[in-house]
Amino acid sequence: MSTKTNFNNQLPILEVKNLQTAFEIDGELHNAVDDVSFSVKPKQIVGVVGESGCGKSVMSLSVMKLLPKGIGQIRAGEVIFDGRNIEKLSDKEMNKFRGKDVSMIFQEPMTSLNPVFTIGYQLQETLFNHMEITKKEARLKSIALLKSVGISRPEKIVDEYPHQLSGGMRQRVMIAIAIACQPKLLIADEPTTALDVTVQAQILDLLKEIQEINNMAIILITHDLGVVAEMCDEVIVMYAGKIVERTDVDTLFHNPKHPYTELLMGAIPKMDEDVEVLSSIEGIVPSLKNMPKVGCRFANRCPKAMPECKSITPQLAETDAGHEVSCLLYETSMPKEGAKLQ
Ligand code: SF4
Repeated sequence: MSTKTNFNNQLPILEVKNLQTAFEIDGELHNAVDDVSFSVKPKQIVGVVGESGCGKSVMSLSVMKLLPKGIGQIRAGEVIFDGRNIEKLSDKEMNKFRGKDVSMIFQEPMTSLNPVFTIGYQLQETLFNHMEITKKEARLKSIALLKSVGISRPEKIVDEYPHQLSGGMRQRVMIAIAIACQPKLLIADEPTTALDVTVQAQILDLLKEIQEINNMAIILITHDLGVVAEMCDEVIVMYAGKIVERTDVDTLFHNPKHPYTELLMGAIPKMDEDVEVLSSIEGIVPSLKNMPKVGCRFANRCPKAMPECKSITPQLAETDAGHEVSCLLYETSMPKEGAKLQ
């Protein structure tokens, strides 16, 4: 796990307040992210975990204002970056914001890299967008950036095309583009999922190294709790568009409280146990169209569900200092021992 840093006295670089993001399906709006609030401090690595469809990626696209036009929209809430409300930024200001203040890398670099342009062209495009720089300076800086992300022979690679590189090298190129203008925050959305295990470890090491050198904060979106343990300071667990648990990484691993987090932990394979079938969480995340209007969204899958879980909506609240959970088991007016739903 990462070395403990005390972030308590620092002002956040990013504040997400009561964010509600909806998608239009069959003429109706459905919330993919619902009343989500969190903050990220400078140099902090915040992990966002949960299964597919839990709202992790939509939340990050909302922060970048990159929701698909005409389909997704921020319905409520605020995203404050370095004191500025991004909702109030013009398209031109947003283009400056992306890349210079906040950058993003995705799971599959081939979808972000343009196959018809060289690596050098794509790096230089980012540099020209944000810096007063000559062509010669941009080429030299591109080569230096490729070198800084561990690409050997950068003078050659700069003139190559994405398809000529391996998946791991393409992800290194994406990281080079993302850090080209030294952003204060990097959002990494499943950055290692498409890579084989050895390359995954190398990319995570690289991210950590770059984070330390550039003093950058990172939001790391992942479904892999091993990656969280390795990298993060704080963890947000999301389920069906809501935050269900948030705390520091040590507390989450030693004292998970939400039944969903407990099940996620139980699904991690253990080195010292010889099991034939890995445990998984039964059922699936409710679809946007079938999201329960009241009650706990996890009730249909929760082994600790109580009858009232389907009629009372739990609220995210602090159970211990720095540990927030959204579950009726921890709401003081609720019974502690629950009978299973029939
Ligand atoms: Fe389970 Fe009820 Fe807690 Fe939801 S509120 S996680 S259903 S115990």
